[in-house]
Amino acid sequence: MKRATSAERGPVRTRRSGVFMETLPPPPAPLPRFEVEVPPPDLSAWREGNCGIPGVMHFESRRVGPHVVVVCLIHGNEYTGAIVMDELLRARIRPGSGRLSVIFANMAALAQFDPDHPVASRFIDEDMNRVWSEDTLHGTRSSHELDRARQILPVIHTADILIDLHSMLWPGRPLVLSGRAPRGVTLARQIGATKLIVADDGHADGTRLIDFARFSSPRTQARACLLEAGQHWQAQTLQTARRAVRAVLRPSCFVAADTAGREGRETAQCMMVTDLVRAHSSRFAFVAPFRGGDIIARRGTLLARDGDDEIRTPYDDCMLVMPNLRPGRGQTALRLARRATPTTDGSFPRPTP
Ligand SMILES: [Zn+2]
Repeated sequence: MKRATSAERGPVRTRRSGVFMETLPPPPAPLPRFEVEVPPPDLSAWREGNCGIPGVMHFESRRVGPHVVVVCLIHGNEYTGAIVMDELLRARIRPGSGRLSVIFANMAALAQFDPDHPVASRFIDEDMNRVWSEDTLHGTRSSHELDRARQILPVIHTADILIDLHSMLWPGRPLVLSGRAPRGVTLARQIGATKLIVADDGHADGTRLIDFARFSSPRTQARACLLEAGQHWQAQTLQTARRAVRAVLRPSCFVAADTAGREGRETAQCMMVTDLVRAHSSRFAFVAPFRGGDIIARRGTLLARDGDDEIRTPYDDCMLVMPNLRPGRGQTALRLARRATPTTDGSFPRPTP
């Protein structure tokens, strides 16, 4: 395991001197037009669900086995995972052992999808992937997404293995977010559909589903991963989601093996998030159209300007995790990751400050 020493690590953000003030970047441009290669699915067959919870399909085998839960549409406009599950449900997928649940998390947001404004239907009221703390779930606040999270909570509470299917707005390498626990990393390797596993500690502005206590507490064995299958609405992303889902379902359900999914298991690159860069101004601008998964060889390389600040790589071989090429003020613009070797128990080490 290689840890950064203070000699190897530089600052991420530095304040520029006044000499450069005239080179401040212009205000961010509006979002480009994103191509929608794959149209949204018709999920009306699953709207009622079959177990008393709308949008949840649940099946039980007579043989003992884990409860596998596939979640799609946590973000309403990220529907490639929903297409995969619609295909499998229409093919009458059933567990050979244990239980299988398929959750279409936010059909109401998907119903608002407009190919002319495809970014707008991510959620109705709030990000459904930031509400999974006990305090939030059991608090008094109400929103469409929070109420829906409470509705599907009984299924989440009994999940043994969970995969949460997402895609990305900006171009980048597909990846699996594993969390830092060994069991999440093990599941990420099993998924194998991407060659990139990224471990992190979640987001300060709310708890993700994969960080829900059931999947992150040392007192349980349930495991969860989040798949970022590629860019939204792209055919290639659909293929990656298919491979990942089949890898997760194959041990307990009757689905054909997908040999293409195996290759990532041994060769997956494991990266650990070390830094989060938030846009402090409304003038945050990258100096190049970076893609998620890009690895910047040299420490100190200029990545972006943010008002009077410069953002640079703090160490050599620094990977850019899902850069947001148009961050609003206060939003996450970028996360940085370095190669990490899981420790002997399979967990990722904590980043060195
Ligand atoms: Zn998402």
